[in-house]
Amino acid sequence: MLDCEIAVVGGGPAGLCAAAEASEWGAGVLLLDRDRMPGGQLVKQTHRFFGSEAQRAGTRGIDIAGILHDRLEASPSAAVWREADVVARYDDGVLGVERRGRWEKIRPQKLIFATGAAEKTLAVPGSDLPGVYGAGAVQTLMNVHGVRPGHRVLMVGAGNIGLIVSYQLLQAEIGVAAVVEATREVGGYWVHASKIRRLGVPILTGHTLLEVTGTDFVRGAVVAEIDENWKIQPGTRREIECDAVCLAVGLGPLGDLMWQCGCEMAWISELGGYVPRRNEEMETSVEGIYVAGDAAGIEEASAAMMEGRLAGLAAAHALGYVPPHQFTRIRSEIASELYHLRSGPTGDVTRRGLAALRGAPVRRQVLVEEGEPC
Ligand SMILES: Cc1cc2nc3c(=O)[nH]c(=O)nc-3n(C[C@H](O)[C@H](O)[C@H](O)COP(=O)(O)OP(=O)(O)OC[C@H]3O[C@@H](n4cnc5c(N)ncnc54)[C@H](O)[C@@H]3O)c2cc1C
Repeated sequence: MLDCEIAVVGGGPAGLCAAAEASEWGAGVLLLDRDRMPGGQLVKQTHRFFGSEAQRAGTRGIDIAGILHDRLEASPSAAVWREADVVARYDDGVLGVERRGRWEKIRPQKLIFATGAAEKTLAVPGSDLPGVYGAGAVQTLMNVHGVRPGHRVLMVGAGNIGLIVSYQLLQAEIGVAAVVEATREVGGYWVHASKIRRLGVPILTGHTLLEVTGTDFVRGAVVAEIDENWKIQPGTRREIECDAVCLAVGLGPLGDLMWQCGCEMAWISELGGYVPRRNEEMETSVEGIYVAGDAAGIEEASAAMMEGRLAGLAAAHALGYVPPHQFTRIRSEIASELYHLRSGPTGDVTRRGLAALRGAPVRRQVLVEEGEPC
């Protein structure tokens, strides 16, 4: 059993910033990530980031991961466990971790969940065929392992992720047959949409994916036009030739461990699904458990970094490492940066989500009632 002051689960931008902040105040921090390379989504991002300049917009995601990781490595009171999958938290607060084939136990005084998000999918006939991927999987194949996911890909979803991954496919000399988007508008930034349109890729708004065709692998995809009520327009079905389909249809916060901990969770569609209720210091309804980043609601890396910093600061403060006057000052600085980040039109959905969270009914999932046989 290893005792530590603060355990941070997840080494994406939120977790790295949380761990760096807390350890720079002197707290003993253990950061755990199931991947070989800490950085979370950032390690797959070869494009220059959008978002807040103060949070490194203009720098490539992969480089931001390196900068954040180097900062953490420089802190003498921080340790990083790679390939460490946190799979459980027992009632006595002990974490169960699968690490390189061994079962490890950790007893932290404070816990920060920065587990990120999981991709959503579309269940249509044929969507279980080899060659149907989530956008994250396509990026991992191409940008981390240098593997082509196919030769001609149909992209589903014209949000930022669908548009950016389409562009990265084109950069890797992989054809993009079309981008299919159910709503009437392109959801991502126009700059990304214009780039791929200029390269000859049609963006079919008001269209949906009906079926993926093929027997052993993807041979094509059937799409059709839909109206505002998502009703298929007669006579508009058509098959598009492709050997891979990439689903970029949204992300959902990864909250399994927070459910296990008994955190109060609320369904907030603007934040991507179930998220934990938390206070302004990112502490959940369970004392000593904090959340940050996409696990707290789907947003961007800029917000994830700031929330991570806030959670790390609060956890270090709760352990007595941050003098009260410094804590109050830095907390309000970060809160004001977050406020500015979310104040423009792109922050509209998040603002609505956070407002809804304040008044939403909460649930605490109880898997097995006390006394019930397992
Ligand atoms: C294609 C694409 C383009 C993007 N472009 C931009 C952009 O330009 N600008 C921008 O600001 N944002 C961008 N984003 C969004 C940004 O990448 C995310 O918002 C950000 O990475 C969220 O950070 P996070 O730390 O919360 O989660 P993640 O980056 O997802 O990190 C979570 C980490 O937790 C680990 N983990 C999860 N569960 C466990 C467990 N049980 N045990 C151990 N480890 C665990 C995972 O391995 C992962 O490393 C983009 C996202 C995508 C997919």
